[in-house]
Amino acid sequence: MRVVRTIAELERHRPDGTVGLVPTMGSFHEGHLALFRAAREENDGVVVSLFVNPAQFNQPSDFSGYPRDEAHDAELAERAGVDVLFAPSAEELYPDDYQTWVDVERLGSILEGEARPGHFRGVATICLKLFNLVRPQRAYFGQKDAQQTAVVRRFVRDLNVPVEIRVVPTVRDEDGLALSSRNARLSADERKQALALPRALATHDPKQARELLDGLDVDYVEVADFEPRVLAAAVRVGATRLIDNVILEGEPA
Ligand code: AMP
Repeated sequence: MRVVRTIAELERHRPDGTVGLVPTMGSFHEGHLALFRAAREENDGVVVSLFVNPAQFNQPSDFSGYPRDEAHDAELAERAGVDVLFAPSAEELYPDDYQTWVDVERLGSILEGEARPGHFRGVATICLKLFNLVRPQRAYFGQKDAQQTAVVRRFVRDLNVPVEIRVVPTVRDEDGLALSSRNARLSADERKQALALPRALATHDPKQARELLDGLDVDYVEVADFEPRVLAAAVRVGATRLIDNVILEGEPA
């Protein structure tokens, strides 16, 4: 596996044949590895991007405190058969005079978009930039971030971007908690409280879910048609904000 840090290097070392891209912000866990494996199976070459995208954070403390461990990430990616790990600098992707944004107007402004203004504008913009830089045939996203996946699908369709979006089921710990880089921030006690989130969603019923989350700091529990329809929720446990969802129909194979 080759680690490349500039656009020029990426251009030189882009794999031959069909390319699968997995955009990530690092701190890899089994959820990321499931995406890498899916990309490995379906393409000649696999590029993983590792970029903690400042444009999608609306809280400076969330950005500065986001877990980062590039050396460990590189080991895990190499073991999963990734060909190129693209870890660009913020300076190269967003130079001083940067001024162009992708804004998925309606889908990007509800639920997560309402709780985190500007978040999906940052996500959609970095994804389009990565698609243009890597030019993959396929790009891989997790069902864990159902609204993100829907936003990406929407701008790909609206802007006629020539990439196939592939979605990988949510990977969970044995206790049901969806894997997330942010779980590392939970204390043992907070982790116990966080388990209410998957338990609530497992009811597949917004009313029952709200009851089970009673007492937690809940941002939303809503049914959303992200193709497929999901029951999605966001809660705060201590200083950590967690999101999760379950598919209500048309479970992917
Ligand atoms: P992140 O590094 O958190 O931006 O995530 C990179 C990709 O991994 C996104 O497409 C996420 O949806 C996906 N992902 C994160 N956690 C999980 C999980 N537990 N199961 C499946 N995919 C995940």
